[in-house]
Amino acid sequence: MNIYLLGATGSIGTQTIEVIREFNFNLVAFSSGRNIELTEEIIKEFAPMHVSVKNKEDAEYLKKKYLGVEFYYGDEGLVKIATLDGNDGVLVNALVGFVGMKPTIEAIKVKKKIALANKETLVVAGDIIMPLANEYGVQIVPIDSEHSAILQCLNGESIDTVNKLVITASGGSFRSLSRDELNSVTVEEALSHPNWSMGAKITIDSATMMNKGFEVIEAHQLFGLAYEKVETILHDESLVHSMVEFVDGSFIAQIGSSDMRVPIYYALMYPNRLEAPYKMKLSDLNTLHFKSMDFERFPLLKLAYRVGKEGGVLPCVMNAANEAAVELFLAGKISFLEIEEIVIEAVENYENEMKYTVDDLINTHNSVKTNILDLRG
Ligand code: MG
Repeated sequence: MNIYLLGATGSIGTQTIEVIREFNFNLVAFSSGRNIELTEEIIKEFAPMHVSVKNKEDAEYLKKKYLGVEFYYGDEGLVKIATLDGNDGVLVNALVGFVGMKPTIEAIKVKKKIALANKETLVVAGDIIMPLANEYGVQIVPIDSEHSAILQCLNGESIDTVNKLVITASGGSFRSLSRDELNSVTVEEALSHPNWSMGAKITIDSATMMNKGFEVIEAHQLFGLAYEKVETILHDESLVHSMVEFVDGSFIAQIGSSDMRVPIYYALMYPNRLEAPYKMKLSDLNTLHFKSMDFERFPLLKLAYRVGKEGGVLPCVMNAANEAAVELFLAGKISFLEIEEIVIEAVENYENEMKYTVDDLINTHNSVKTNILDLRG
């Protein structure tokens, strides 16, 4: 299988590389950011034909060293990788944040199959992307574990018979802390997730529950159900990856180890299932805990439902504000609770627009993010 991978050196990217190695897939092209050391390791091991990096200087440095490889850089490089060879193979979009939107849109236009880990794409531009994918007959297969679970639960079922989707949430790094106790938490504490090993951005998003809010919008977009039918529930063990309740009262849940290689491999193979080594021990299932969601404890999740329902450019504003706030928090410039404040304030103060183009989204994203970074950075 030919793989085109965006975000190869990130958390989902490196786990995708492991899957590629395990199954001897063909890595035709990939993009990476500023981690040139790891970029070179991937080039040496997989001998791809095309590579895109963040900076022009890095591209030029690599070009001199690896003569058989085509190098690109920047946002245009991402689109280049995403659209190479038309509808050949599978694009894995493992980029983090808004930057993943344009490559997804362009990949749809060349009818490439898309395995999507970049949830921000659907949060910000789902109302453009889903109809476009429909128009071009392109299937977007989610890598996000919750959405992979729901996709599996819906196999062979009619969406009309779904009563609700139940998205599980681990609660993130600070799930045992009260809101008062959140005042003094550090970046280091925020980065240690109890169940999953993930990148910095998504680990912080999990602690604020912004990630679950994004996933609610992502589920609404992917499966076309009203927000009233998308429920979230706290589940400590992260073994039930999500569930679907049907109109007759039956639940179907998907269970497996908390290992992102499972949904990555499923997305690559979809709709087939093949032997893989990512097994869960049945003894891990001894105890499963579920608790109703606490929207007062997690105000960003509550906000995401509201923003999702309102639609327009508001999801883009929420995402941009969150990207800025997480960046500031990781740089030690704001406290953990200020992430919430910044995101809520940005959404409250924005006059929503219901009609917009892709370029409008790019402008909105850039202005909201830059404003916050200039003001607080
Ligand atoms: Mg997830």
